[in-house]
Amino acid sequence: MGIPVYQRTLGDDVSFSGVGLHSGKTVHLTIKPAPVNYGIKFVRKDLPHDPAIPARFNCVVDTSLATVIGSEGVIVSTIEHLMACLAGLSIDNARVELDAYEVPVMDGSAGPFTRMIMAAGIREQEAARHFFVLKEPIELQQDGKFVGAYPDTTFKITCNIDFEHPLIRKQSCTIEVLDYIFEREISIARTFGFLHEVESMKRYGLARGGSLDNAVVIHEKGILNKDGLRFQNEFVRHKLLDCIGDFALLGMPILGHIVTYKSGHSFNHAFLENFFKNKASWQTRTLSKPAEAASETAKYLAI
Ligand SMILES: [Zn+2]
Repeated sequence: MGIPVYQRTLGDDVSFSGVGLHSGKTVHLTIKPAPVNYGIKFVRKDLPHDPAIPARFNCVVDTSLATVIGSEGVIVSTIEHLMACLAGLSIDNARVELDAYEVPVMDGSAGPFTRMIMAAGIREQEAARHFFVLKEPIELQQDGKFVGAYPDTTFKITCNIDFEHPLIRKQSCTIEVLDYIFEREISIARTFGFLHEVESMKRYGLARGGSLDNAVVIHEKGILNKDGLRFQNEFVRHKLLDCIGDFALLGMPILGHIVTYKSGHSFNHAFLENFFKNKASWQTRTLSKPAEAASETAKYLAI
């Protein structure tokens, strides 16, 4: 099973409710199938005229604590794990309706979204997917952080982290981003934070919805969560999940190998800006059948 070459959407609506990580407010969210070339849009059902915001790089308004998109004064916050889920499952078109400004945090991973969508089924559509295809490497390095994108015949991500904490230290993880691999290896990895950071965020009225039910909380010698970790390297797997969500904001899947070192939402976003500046380093194209993923005979598109 290779990377899907036709656009995909959900087989049916899926609905969730939960609290927003930063607002602490209950949110209801429904993800609906959408037609070809629709992309991913977030729709605020609690506001007049149901304003819709495309989940695109150029609509990102903040990346400091969560990825926030906005348009004409309307925002949707903390989209990164849901975006990771949709990109991890190679879903190109979906309409995400919600009745508040923040996506529910669920269990701190993309597991609940992923399970429900897999249960509803994924439907292949009649139009070809358009891919960004790298012709040469693009790299960005700053303050000990690094992101690189390299030509490849499939979509791969390698994440590396290095924390001065005995439970984490150096961790590295590489996957090929295909739905069944994403579901099994990445979707259930939870977000994490250090106890002192969580305490100071709460003092400033942030992370109001944060609890041990939706984050791994690390203290000096271990973690506070009684049930332990879901993977020995759950931390780097979650970073990889975040990275899939950030790159999903390109608006189209990428054929290439992304490599990150000590990166996060803000630096990934800086890389995306750099990516769009380096237009000579990539092109867009469709793949008319799976065998062409590795061949030279693919159709080239003007961008
Ligand atoms: Zn995350």
